[in-house]
Amino acid sequence: MSLPLQGLKAIVTGGSRGIGRAIAVELARQGSDVAIAYKGSAEAAAEVVAEIEGLGRRALAVQTDVGDFVQAGNLVSEATRQLGGLDILVNNAGITRDKLLLGMRPEDWDDVIRTNLTGCFNVTQQAMRSLVRNRKGAIVNITSVSGRVGMKGQANYSAAKAGIIGFTKAMAKELASRNITVNAVAPGFIDTDMTKTLAPEYLKGVTDFIPMGRIGQSWEVAKAVAFLASPDARYITGQMIVVDGGLTM
Ligand code: NDP
Repeated sequence: MSLPLQGLKAIVTGGSRGIGRAIAVELARQGSDVAIAYKGSAEAAAEVVAEIEGLGRRALAVQTDVGDFVQAGNLVSEATRQLGGLDILVNNAGITRDKLLLGMRPEDWDDVIRTNLTGCFNVTQQAMRSLVRNRKGAIVNITSVSGRVGMKGQANYSAAKAGIIGFTKAMAKELASRNITVNAVAPGFIDTDMTKTLAPEYLKGVTDFIPMGRIGQSWEVAKAVAFLASPDARYITGQMIVVDGGLTM
């Protein structure tokens, strides 16, 4: 029996750690070759490449700041050249610089918008050509419940993630006639380095509000992404799957 993503080729940004790593490995497990982009963690990225190769797929890691248009273009051309094409793009790279608005420095605003939102534009625009040429493909953008309902201390991040939701819908409309789906996945609180920076008492308070009574695991987000990237989801576009244990239903 063939795997759902057998023979497909994917780019996952921010694939060296956390949710992006879980997505890269899940796509490979389901049959895809995968290029990951990372910003600084070369060692972690090499581990992900080895894990994917261990699954019998091709893999590469490209050091890329997704906020830089030229570097994003290099990522797309390296991945497409080395994998021999492109079918799936997962825009996952993201950062937080949480502060109440009064204490938020202009650079906290700019860094978060640049990495999370402009990064999606930079990679998607330059990956689109390959997908359009194939007349098939799937783009999955990782947003957040923060972009859906807004979170205190995250004006920059909520704005970037809400921007990704709008970007997803606009791209879905632009690319539907080319047989390319564009969807978003909105995780709630997931156990990664990003949430390790939150104070334990804050996290405990949040957990009390999650109907499922726990924070999520990266693989639980990865499964939703893999589904949206698969041919089983080919008639689903412009949508958002929320993976938050019921926090924002
Ligand atoms: P992590 O901090 O664990 O990992 C972030 C990843 O993004 C790393 O691979 C990092 O690379 C990469 N990255 C950061 N900046 C850049 C950049 N400028 N260019 C390229 N890559 C970059 O984060 P998570 O796994 O927790 O988050 C992944 C995504 O999920 C993000 O978009 C985040 O906003 C979103 N999300 C996370 C939630 C959570 O609770 N964890 C909740 C909702 C959404 P490197 O290793 O080299 O630094």
